[in-house]
Amino acid sequence: MVNSNQATKTISLEQYGIKNAKVNYQLSPDELHKITIEKGQGVEANSGALAVNTGEFTGRSPKDRFIVKDAVTEDKVWWGNINIPFDTQKFDKLYNKVVDYLSEKELFVRDSYACADPNYKLNIRVINEYPWSNLFAHNMFLRPEESELTTFDPEWTVVNAPGFNADPEEDGTRQHNFAILNFTKKIALIGGTGYTGEIKKGIFSALNFILPVYKNTLPMHCSANVGENGETAVFFGLSGTGKTTLSADPNRKLIGDDEHGWTAENTIFNFEGGCYAKVINLTEEQEPDIFRAIKKGAILENVIMDKNGEVDFENITITQNTRVSYPIYHIDNIQIPSIGHNPKNIFFLTADAFGVLPPISKLTPGQAAYHFISGYTAKVAGTEAGVDEPTPNFSACFGAPFMPLHPTEYAEMLSKKMKETGVNVWLVNTGWTGGPYGVGSRMKLKFTRAMITAALEGELEHVEFENHPLFGLSMPTSCPNVPDEILNPRNTWKNLKSYDVQAKELAASFRENFAKFESYANAEIMGGAPMG
Ligand code: ATP
Ligand code: MN
Repeated sequence: MVNSNQATKTISLEQYGIKNAKVNYQLSPDELHKITIEKGQGVEANSGALAVNTGEFTGRSPKDRFIVKDAVTEDKVWWGNINIPFDTQKFDKLYNKVVDYLSEKELFVRDSYACADPNYKLNIRVINEYPWSNLFAHNMFLRPEESELTTFDPEWTVVNAPGFNADPEEDGTRQHNFAILNFTKKIALIGGTGYTGEIKKGIFSALNFILPVYKNTLPMHCSANVGENGETAVFFGLSGTGKTTLSADPNRKLIGDDEHGWTAENTIFNFEGGCYAKVINLTEEQEPDIFRAIKKGAILENVIMDKNGEVDFENITITQNTRVSYPIYHIDNIQIPSIGHNPKNIFFLTADAFGVLPPISKLTPGQAAYHFISGYTAKVAGTEAGVDEPTPNFSACFGAPFMPLHPTEYAEMLSKKMKETGVNVWLVNTGWTGGPYGVGSRMKLKFTRAMITAALEGELEHVEFENHPLFGLSMPTSCPNVPDEILNPRNTWKNLKSYDVQAKELAASFRENFAKFESYANAEIMGGAPMG
């Protein structure tokens, strides 16, 4: 299944307006690894992985993500500060500047596709300025067989020029970096940033428009895996809540760690062909599957290594958001192809840094819709700011920055599917217990894993539940391999009054955030709101 993607054909980029480029088409991972090192753009870690620095940007830049507003998008996209409109003429001008910049250069081109279900396949051509960005595309997108390459017809094109800086006044961008989607020309134009995540999330955003609008399929910011009984679980959650970590479960086959579609036939397919894991504080003991996936072929981003190439996973000198990308076959237990059937359990992951939400609770359909539209997690302030107050962060559908349509369009599709399949929905707090950030501690990974396993194996069907007085969530009072005391968050706080105050404040944040969606929500959904 590991194909080298070594191509015998050559291609020209003239049709894109890129002139006299030296085109490296479909190079193998080994070649890209070697070229990156030869160019001084990366080094080899002692694990064999390639280590690179992505430069000025070590994360996505949501404020610099635009969508061209034209006949295709005008009436469908939910415009605002998440989906920021970009003018058609301005796009054409900027595009021309970017392809002029890329002309005469040595470039790296890869044909790949998204969507593991052949009925939904989206062919993608990625044109990169840097070899390691092209290796990222190899790792993250699906890899066509060589026989498919001879007749490959790219539908979408990613033009990725990290070294090109826009002139905001002239180009209509906010600053020098940008990621712009053009649905009419089917181009994702990325410049001024080397952060590789922009490439994958650009295509994700495109699919989040294409699939619901044209293919009656719900796109989801979630991971997914499948058990021995053939039942599929999906894990929604914002960044850092545990999608990648918790979906890598040696007892279940991994479907994917970040982006999936739920079809009208109730199958779940991965959009991608690889994973993009956070590596901060990574240990082999806690996360063996991810740790062992870091080998030749993988790309480490923005990590610090010693002179022997040993990575210091605790080092956040460059960024907290240290990452590794690897093709999915670096994980041992995977589902091939990346398609799951029989969705049985949905987990909403949240990292509640206020220590209020229970570590696991079962949701009613109304609560499920309410929490999906809310998309809650907490952001923990950076240490250097000197502030240790966490802030609530609400992002609709657990992925608002990637959702071109109004959140309720996705929520309605999900509600319908939940009813059709009778799937269980769980809210899992992978965040704080025993008090808020600074006082309590993060929930132990082994306990979260045990709670998820219990839910998946049906073990929570035989235990008693109690209701959270404010959030109305149904909390198990016992769970195999988890101490009873931690299941009700209030019990873990030293000062019960402080818990009640904190819980009230969080409930108020939920209600305040939801105000803008109330006019779209029926009584069932509003019944899922916290009391107050
Ligand atoms: P992204 O969308 O950015 O890829 P993600 O949802 O995939 O984010 P992960 O990469 O899984 O998030 O990150 C979760 C992080 O939290 C990991 O570094 C993991 O080690 C850590 N962690 C600590 N405690 C827990 C817990 N109880 N459950 C899950 N993750 C935990
Ligand atoms: Mn992830």
